[in-house]
Amino acid sequence: MSTAIGNALWSPLAHMPSVLAGGRTIITHGSGTHLTTDDGRELLDATAGLWHANIGHGRPEIAEAAAAQLQRLETYQSFGSFSNDVALRLADRLAALSPIADPRIILTSGGSDGVEVAAKLARLHWQLEGRHDKVTILSRADSYHGLHAFGSSLSGPDIYRDGYGPGTLVPETALFSSTDIDDLERRITELGADRIAAIIAEPVIGSGGIIAPPPGYFERMQELARAHDILLIADEVVTGFGRTGRWFAVERFGIAPDMIVTAKGITSGYAPLGAVFVAPRLWKRFFDGPDAPIYRHGVTYSGHATACAIALANLDILERENLVERAAELETVLVRELEVLRDQPGVVEVRSGAGFLAGVQLEPEIPGDRVAAVALDRGVLLRVIRGNTIQISPPFVVTEQEIALIVRVLRETIEQFADRAR
Ligand code: PLP
Repeated sequence: MSTAIGNALWSPLAHMPSVLAGGRTIITHGSGTHLTTDDGRELLDATAGLWHANIGHGRPEIAEAAAAQLQRLETYQSFGSFSNDVALRLADRLAALSPIADPRIILTSGGSDGVEVAAKLARLHWQLEGRHDKVTILSRADSYHGLHAFGSSLSGPDIYRDGYGPGTLVPETALFSSTDIDDLERRITELGADRIAAIIAEPVIGSGGIIAPPPGYFERMQELARAHDILLIADEVVTGFGRTGRWFAVERFGIAPDMIVTAKGITSGYAPLGAVFVAPRLWKRFFDGPDAPIYRHGVTYSGHATACAIALANLDILERENLVERAAELETVLVRELEVLRDQPGVVEVRSGAGFLAGVQLEPEIPGDRVAAVALDRGVLLRVIRGNTIQISPPFVVTEQEIALIVRVLRETIEQFADRAR
């Protein structure tokens, strides 16, 4: 741990006195599945950072694409009738990959911005339809949708809303159960379908603990959304671009959303970028006739040319190396390796099998953060997410031996703590 530099940095979601007392883990280099710290330690990245480094770290092809673009044009903005050639090419390429037929693509600066785009567009849609009461957006109790204004309100846990004064940041939001779909029906009845604009959902809940949808969950959600004229937004910020062994998780789980929010995997984290895929039902009125309305959302970096060039190079790598198919194969390996943890003392539940991602929930007396710290000392970088759960979601270029190593280190570390707790 190093404390030498960076005292000025206020880290996100951090208890700063502890960070400053304990020191930071400072990553300076990355290559494939490995990261190097400023004090020369080699770490195996078992989570692909914050679920983003799908193609692995330090890929020279991406560096070359970024350098070539920067030398030609760093960016030009996309407001109004301006754009740049790279943003246009990326949008076409995303449209060709899209599970939504004939979509239009809104490029964003990341996942939270994408959630903002989708939530505002859902509300705008119903205002333009003349259904002025349809403003509430529903989300799942364990979800995470980023931390801009809508995301802070839509993400399940109260911690993201507490402390900002009375009311939520965006009052017209409501939660329903992540696993009991009948609860959604109850919420719709309670609030009145005429007041509900949209439902937003992660196909597989990520930061909320890696929770797969129970059988029939999304089928029923879709039926309810159709029956009550409620828009469906899939938040694929974690799952998009291969994490579930399909380009998009909605394909795997049979969901037909009106919008898909993506980020992270679109560039594998090599640049901040996101994209919202919008169905014709929503975009058509904005594209036709002199009285077409204007969607007044955008940021300086909407369609940033260098970020878009990186996304195109990232898509090239995913396609050329068949990494989406590889993620599906690796899911099987991960599920198999994790079997040994199912009966392990100290483990409440192993949640796997909904993609190349897994959560190992620990008993409350086994401190997840300490487990992660010991694993880090042994060279494996894991992460603790909600519910004392250890996140495993390596880059798609990880080897089977590395998966086995991750699971072995985790198992031995849990064992160590379980022995102590006995
Ligand atoms: N949605 C989901 C499902 C996420 O996991 C995240 C980030 O982890 C976001 C939205 C927010 O994305 P960003 O951090 O890029 O703003």
